[in-house]
Amino acid sequence: MSAEFRRATAAQLRAGYGSGTFTSLEVVDELLGAIAQEDAALGAWLHLRTDEVRGEAQRADDAYAAARANGADAVHALAPLLGVPVALKDLVNMRGTPTTAGSKMLEGYVSPYDATITSKLKAAGALILGKTNMDEFAMGSSTEFSAYRRTVNPWDRERVPGGSSGGSASAVAAFHAPLSIGSDTGGSIRQPASLTGITGMKPTYGRVSRYGIVAFASSLDQIGPFARSAQDAALMLHAIAGSDPRDATSSALPVDSALLTLPQGDQAAIAIKGKRFALPKEYFVAGMEPGVEAAVRAAVAALQSAGAVIDEVSLPTTEHALATYYIVAPAEASANLARYDGIRFGASKHGGGDLLGGYLSTRGRGFGPEVRRRIMLGTYALSAGFYDAYYLKAQKVRTLIARDFDRIWSAGYDAIVAPASPSVAWKFGAKLSDPVAMYLADACTIPTNMAGLPGLSTPCGLSDGLPVGLQLIGAPWSEAALLSIAAGYEALTVDAPWRAVEPTDLATLGGAA
Ligand code: GLN
Repeated sequence: MSAEFRRATAAQLRAGYGSGTFTSLEVVDELLGAIAQEDAALGAWLHLRTDEVRGEAQRADDAYAAARANGADAVHALAPLLGVPVALKDLVNMRGTPTTAGSKMLEGYVSPYDATITSKLKAAGALILGKTNMDEFAMGSSTEFSAYRRTVNPWDRERVPGGSSGGSASAVAAFHAPLSIGSDTGGSIRQPASLTGITGMKPTYGRVSRYGIVAFASSLDQIGPFARSAQDAALMLHAIAGSDPRDATSSALPVDSALLTLPQGDQAAIAIKGKRFALPKEYFVAGMEPGVEAAVRAAVAALQSAGAVIDEVSLPTTEHALATYYIVAPAEASANLARYDGIRFGASKHGGGDLLGGYLSTRGRGFGPEVRRRIMLGTYALSAGFYDAYYLKAQKVRTLIARDFDRIWSAGYDAIVAPASPSVAWKFGAKLSDPVAMYLADACTIPTNMAGLPGLSTPCGLSDGLPVGLQLIGAPWSEAALLSIAAGYEALTVDAPWRAVEPTDLATLGGAA
């Protein structure tokens, strides 16, 4: 089954290790081999833990062998992701590995400690293969703002994978890892998941600890999983979620054990019957590609045929979310990025001159164009005289956005169904010279972040041969319910012809320059 290891889900790997059908080391070696052959062209990875991870796989295999000798219960009792390879977006600290956040500002920085999610993944038995490419400080929607390399979309190497978590999305879409971690401040998990044809979830704000994650906009940032199935996304979310004394915004609510027992197959499909979904008309934004709209509407029709009730609703504040986000996110970023002064972290260009000169040359050379744009926007919005007009106003609009969503949950809807992105993956450079065009790529995802809600993107078809994502948005803490709906949708469409199509440029990645 060798060449099949890379296509296996985390759940299948865990089962195969448990039964002794294959080993973690075999899987890790196959994935490392694929990465070695294909990543020059794919560009998903910034750092690999090749030697360390092989040793860790060997130890996982030893644990499985020992448990098997003690019977099925002992195997079952092993950690849920034991021996399962995963990737981390390069803004997650892991002790002893480089963390760049895609920026020259952090070139050469080696993390002195583990982020909480890194410790949790280790405790769950996951094997961290390495770190993945991203837009600098998670600002962007195409991964083209990485200071290091270009990540291509395995569906078309002329096109972007989305962003800012493009490396994590492409790695999973290209079968370099079954699971990866992304961060979503305004859409950076759901949008690249949509553009690369995989599943990605942004949990409720506070569900996953942000301790040890390079901060972008602290009131919006959430960490979440990428996977090739709802069940796998749920397994990874279960591993990383939970309260953390080191992050005061993390919730004390217990982690939902339903994430470990998501309904599968027919059981999941049957559960769609009787569900009530709200379809907000404002999410079919001006300029949405007709092929995207068609695929999303077909997905909604499939849910309806399975017995779900679909009501068209209005979320009138949707159109204000983007403008509000581009006040709040840059304002918080300008404060968070003040720490990169060339003294405390990473790159330093402090020469023989005065202190201010050192700051200016470090920040002038370390930050790329988009990051500088955000710092200027944010500093302006927070400056005396403009604070009330921009930041305070934006926070008030944010409350109105949250109230819009609250009306949906009070009316008893199980979820909102909507597009995840107005377009399929676009060609490199298409939006680079027009920042606002790039910002519009997140029109469908940003309202969720402004309200702190959970949302996911699940593949729902192809438009011109490129993936389209269906977005599901839920009430706070409804992650297990949303993932169950996604599992139901997977089961309903298991025989759809588009499900059988693999990323079309995968075959051309091997050995290509
Ligand atoms: N594309 C949005 C931005 O550039 C969102 C990024 C994110 O979610 N990290 O801010």
